[in-house]
Amino acid sequence: MREIIFDFDSDSIVDLDPTRSSGTEGSCYYREGRIYIGAKEESKLLGILAHELTHLAMQVCYDNECNPYKESDEQTKSEFGKIVSQCREKNGMDSIIKRVFTVYGESNWPAELIVRVPHLLAHYVLKKANAYSHNKHQICSVSMSNTHKKI
Ligand SMILES: [Zn+2]
Repeated sequence: MREIIFDFDSDSIVDLDPTRSSGTEGSCYYREGRIYIGAKEESKLLGILAHELTHLAMQVCYDNECNPYKESDEQTKSEFGKIVSQCREKNGMDSIIKRVFTVYGESNWPAELIVRVPHLLAHYVLKKANAYSHNKHQICSVSMSNTHKKI
C-alpha cells in the first residue's frame, strides 16, 4: 500500500476520484496501492477505513479479488455463500449491511459482506465510546497519526 488519501470535507470520494459515484465513501485500489476515503464524521471515517483496509487484507491473504477465500477453495466459497444468503434474507439488518445487497452486484457480495464486520465495529464502537468518553480526540489522533491528508 503506497497511500491512503482522505477527504475530511465530504462524505464521498468523488472529488478524489471522479470515476466514482457521489455516493461512494471509500475505495481500495489494491493494484495501484491506493485507498480513498471520504467522511466528515469521525466514526464514519474510522468505519470506512476499517472497511477498506479489510478489503486490502482479504486481497493479501487470498489473492482473489478481495473475496474471503482462495479462488480454488470451492468449499469455503460455498459455505460463505450460505452466510451471504442468510444475511440477505434477514430483516432489520443495519444499513451498513443492507448496502451490500442494494449497492453491489451479486458477484461482489462475499467481498463486500466480509468487510462489514470491522466496518460495524469501528463505526459503532467509536460512536459508543464518544457518547461515554471525553477522550474521543485522543482516540482519533492516534488512529490518524500515520496518514496524510489530501483535499
Ligand atoms: Zn467495500
